[in-house]
Amino acid sequence: MKKMAKDRLSYFRKRLLDKQRQLMEEVGRSALYGKGQEDDSIKDLGDQAATAYTREFLFELGNGDRRLLKEVTTALRKIEEGGYGECERCGEPIAKKRLEALPFARYCIDCQRLVEEEERSAAG
Ligand SMILES: [Zn+2]
Repeated sequence: MKKMAKDRLSYFRKRLLDKQRQLMEEVGRSALYGKGQEDDSIKDLGDQAATAYTREFLFELGNGDRRLLKEVTTALRKIEEGGYGECERCGEPIAKKRLEALPFARYCIDCQRLVEEEERSAAG
C-alpha cells in the first residue's frame, strides 16, 4: 500500500483538528442538557450497541455532531498511528476527492454505501 505523503497528511491533520475544535464546542453546548444520563451512552456511540432509545435520545442532542466528532477523532488517531486514507472495510485507498470533501471518511464510497445499508437494517 502506497503511503500518503507527509505534507498531505499534515494538511488533513490541520483540517481535522479545526473540525474537532468546532465540534467539541457544539457538542459541549448540547451536553449541558441531560447531563449524567447521557455520559455512558456517548462512549458507546457508533459501537452499534446503542439501544433505539439511546439513539433517539442522542439524536435530539445533536447525534450528528457527536458521531462526527468520534469520526474526526478516529481519523486523527489514524494519522498518528498509520492507516489514514485507507478504507476500514476493504483496505483500499479512499478516493482523493472523497477525502477532500470528508477528511474523516472511514470507508471508500462503495463500502460506505454497504455500511449505511447495514446500519439501516440493524436499526430496524
Ligand atoms: Zn472499501
